[in-house]
Amino acid sequence: MSIPTKEEVSALLGGITEPDLRRGLNELNLIRGIEIDGSTIAVTVAVTGPGPHLPKYFNEVIPSKLIGVFPDVTEVKVATTQLTEQERAAMVGSVKKDTPGLLGRSDTHTQVIAIGSGKGGVGKSTTTVNIAASLVKQGHSVGLLDADVWGFSIPRMLGIHEKPKVVEDMIIPPEMFGVKIVSIGLFTTEDNPVVWRGPMLHKALQQFLEDVHWDEPDYLLVDLPPGTGDVSISIAQFLPGASMVVVTTPQQVAEKVAQRAGFMAEKTGLSVAGVVENMSFFRGDDGKVYNIFGSGGGRNLATTLNVPLLGQIPIEPRLTQFADIGAPIVLQHPDCEAAEALDGAAKELANILPPKPRSAKRISLPLLGGH
Ligand code: ADP
Repeated sequence: MSIPTKEEVSALLGGITEPDLRRGLNELNLIRGIEIDGSTIAVTVAVTGPGPHLPKYFNEVIPSKLIGVFPDVTEVKVATTQLTEQERAAMVGSVKKDTPGLLGRSDTHTQVIAIGSGKGGVGKSTTTVNIAASLVKQGHSVGLLDADVWGFSIPRMLGIHEKPKVVEDMIIPPEMFGVKIVSIGLFTTEDNPVVWRGPMLHKALQQFLEDVHWDEPDYLLVDLPPGTGDVSISIAQFLPGASMVVVTTPQQVAEKVAQRAGFMAEKTGLSVAGVVENMSFFRGDDGKVYNIFGSGGGRNLATTLNVPLLGQIPIEPRLTQFADIGAPIVLQHPDCEAAEALDGAAKELANILPPKPRSAKRISLPLLGGH
């Protein structure tokens, strides 16, 4: 008979990722019992919070790891049990110790890149979402903090509707296209905007950097509100060593406004890494290029700020459609000229700011109970 031992079952199931904390079951010590009775295996697994999604997930994934793999195992029973409050607190404490929040840390593995613009409507959020998706395509882990409090649009652009989960005091960001996302927009609704006052905003950003389980991604992109306001100052204070990308259009007026944002960023301690020029031109079906918003703004701004021009993104009507249905164009239509320019900008950015080495080693969790 091909029946596994308890150790073999534990080793196989231990590699299953807990979907909220994204750590292995053995690492989190969530497998609480394995009983083998002939061709039936009964597994008890602890879940980290209420709701049906975790039991449902384990009921699907655990049998799939055993049935078929061991020909004589014909039945797998899965039971779930809740962690006690004490166990949950110990687990969250260990995860936080292992990967502390990003607030105030200059030793973090994460490259933080704020994306700013002089004024609204230049395509800053569109650029941010596509650069995030493109960095994932390149094999990087990516977080996205939507700090554009007045014009937050990232959740819609990425088709995210669920609120972040909270385990103890740890906020688990939803993930879409491999990007972990936290947006002010996920804590409010689009038709019921919160009036954010300066100190509230500062506190909210602080919480997003401290309590969100970003898990030290290679990159954290921060979508800033347009202009030179408080949010940039808070980000520079909270995230020493953060860089900034300025998005502008080819128009001279836009370039001048963006220049102020660039200079201001440097004053607050964010070093500008490059410029992206969006809506650079429109290419007709006949291949002819139309400079609808003028030309030269991005190049001039890059020269003035003494940084590279990372890319020139053409006007692409499908960008608007894709933004409305929640899918980045670099994934949906990677061969179009706009997607290629966005991919190029992301690659250029990753060349200038390569992922930092990971120094901290993961500490394994204390045993919370046995099996
Ligand atoms: P911002 O974040 O700067 O306010 P958005 O990213 O929200 O700007 O973009 C404003 C609008 O312009 C959106 O409707 C978006 O879909 C559209 N848009 C952005 N970039 C382009 C582009 N290159 N081609 C066509 N439409 C674009």
